[in-house]
Amino acid sequence: MRILVIEDEKRVASFVRRSLVEAGYAVDCAHDGEQGAKLADRGEHDAIILDLRLPSCDGLSIVKGLRQRGKSTPVLAVTASGSVPDRVAGLNAGCDDYLVKPFAVAELVARVQSLLRRGTVQTALLRVGDLLLDTMIHRVTRAGKPIELTPKEFALLEYLMRKAGQVVTKTMIEQHVWNYDFDSGTNLVEVHMSHLRDKVDRGFDAPLIQTVRGVGYVIQKGSGTRQ
Ligand code: CA
Repeated sequence: MRILVIEDEKRVASFVRRSLVEAGYAVDCAHDGEQGAKLADRGEHDAIILDLRLPSCDGLSIVKGLRQRGKSTPVLAVTASGSVPDRVAGLNAGCDDYLVKPFAVAELVARVQSLLRRGTVQTALLRVGDLLLDTMIHRVTRAGKPIELTPKEFALLEYLMRKAGQVVTKTMIEQHVWNYDFDSGTNLVEVHMSHLRDKVDRGFDAPLIQTVRGVGYVIQKGSGTRQ
């Protein structure tokens, strides 16, 4: 899951970024409206946290523009004002939720999780064979046995499971699980994937995560042999 944070106050942006990264999300930050609108338009993010007061740009016009161009990425608006007319204007412009500054980080993370769930209510519990991943409580089990994952491994597995049966390329993984400034020259994806496969498949006869040589990875229940 990848989140875009559009916030001109760098201190707030880095604080928000750190909290979301700790919660297992990939995060991109834009410090002005123009850059933010450009990144939002790419449609690569699963949610956007948008400060409504940006210099030389009105946050509401960003979300209006986004909606006019048919993008439905959930937007959590952040503002210093919690007045009713401001909230109504935000919701009318196409924001999905509202958070008033100053806010507690735990609340921000909870709101983001709630936004992400809205579009995927039926898929909060992901299942491939006997592997279960509960996105609500961040728990993974295989054949009923709990599997401990790092936040990055969890994010990687969630992405694979949301695309179960489809081959995902290293580039797709980099774009959805890592941050925008990720250096694709590294072998981080391979390293995390190798740890993840150890935890998920070791000790089981039928591996669920398979390598598709030269293309990427796929998770599926099947007769695949370990490669
Ligand atoms: Ca601001």
